[in-house]
Amino acid sequence: MPKYFLKTYGCQMNKSDSERIAGILEENNYKPASDMKEADLILINSCSIRQSAIDRIWGQTKIISKLKIQNPKIKAVLTGCVLKKDKRKFKERFDLIIDIKELSKLPGFLKNKTSINKHYLKIKPKYETSFRAYIPITTGCNNFCSYCVVPYTRGKEVSRQAKEIICEIESLIKRNYKEIWLLGENVNSFRSGKIDFPKLLEMINNIPGNFWIRFTSPHPKDFSNKLINTIAQSKKATEYIHLPVQSGDDKILKKMKRPYTLKMYKDLVKRIRKSIPKMALSTDIIVGFPGETIKQFENTIKLFKEIKFDMAYISQYSARLGTLSSKMEDNVSHKEKERRDLVLTKVLSKTALKNNKEYIGKKIEVLIEQKKKTFLMGKTRSYKSIRFKGNKNLIGKFVKVKILGALPWGLKGELIK
Ligand code: SF4
Repeated sequence: MPKYFLKTYGCQMNKSDSERIAGILEENNYKPASDMKEADLILINSCSIRQSAIDRIWGQTKIISKLKIQNPKIKAVLTGCVLKKDKRKFKERFDLIIDIKELSKLPGFLKNKTSINKHYLKIKPKYETSFRAYIPITTGCNNFCSYCVVPYTRGKEVSRQAKEIICEIESLIKRNYKEIWLLGENVNSFRSGKIDFPKLLEMINNIPGNFWIRFTSPHPKDFSNKLINTIAQSKKATEYIHLPVQSGDDKILKKMKRPYTLKMYKDLVKRIRKSIPKMALSTDIIVGFPGETIKQFENTIKLFKEIKFDMAYISQYSARLGTLSSKMEDNVSHKEKERRDLVLTKVLSKTALKNNKEYIGKKIEVLIEQKKKTFLMGKTRSYKSIRFKGNKNLIGKFVKVKILGALPWGLKGELIK
């Protein structure tokens, strides 16, 4: 049987796409290879959000070229988020470069035949675990934030049919899945006929079974009171929201083409916390955006101190060709971006530790994800990482854990027997 090696870069959406790639390959009798060296087919599912991912893929192509010299029958495929200019750059290094939307063409390419064109979201995925499933409910984005390549690589936003999503989740719950992640670049602008995102959440919550619902990434502009109420009333929706703010300064937000002000963002957080007091919040931040002054960066620090995020994904700005911001002068030095990143991480680690200490002594539900050395690792409903001792046959199960200690990025506990 031919073997494939699949390397995934980027976000959960890409991970979910890779599950579809694996699904289509295994349907065509390919088996996974544990190493690139033993594969007949090498696939790279790429991410274009940062230049560093593209540079790493360039590094991988050197290894692929060497392997192809040893065995010319090896085929290499590039898919995922790829900008046109990168496609040109990679053209000589891959046998096939396809948009993720064209995934159904892959079997045809492998067998030298034309294949039936079907939307890639209709391809059956091979889920990576037996307890957590990523379900894309929308793909693409219409927002054109000035720094982001997604609208160029994934195209316009399209929602899947609600009926199809519900069917997929029902079948997963029958197979005992415990955690359902709803994915979309702008997940809360989902709409299928009359069904909007809050209604979809309500429908999923009504599916009988013991499971958690999570979603990412919502856009603050589409976070309605109706959505807050639905989450508050849904037992299965967990107490964790990733709410990207990107900057703590109104002028920078405007340059980023994020259509809200700081006041609007803070009001939203206030409304969320009023309805769901236990809600944990994480965010995305870009430091060193073109023209970001020290004063404007300090406004981001102020916001972090005020909101007291539980987690933040901080990136140092890098221009992506084709985006609006790439035409702006990238005038914050690399050294200064590093400094801002470190300062913000320090502030975050203090608030996160303080938030985590609130858990000490509590007994909470945990979904166990893996075993590392002697520890079981899991997540709480509020998406806190937690470690404790226990048997690996508990992986994929809900257990009760008593919290004994807190760190900035996680909790320590003991299993309640
Ligand atoms: S909302 Fe903005 S940052 Fe998010 S995918 Fe769309 S364009 Fe990119």
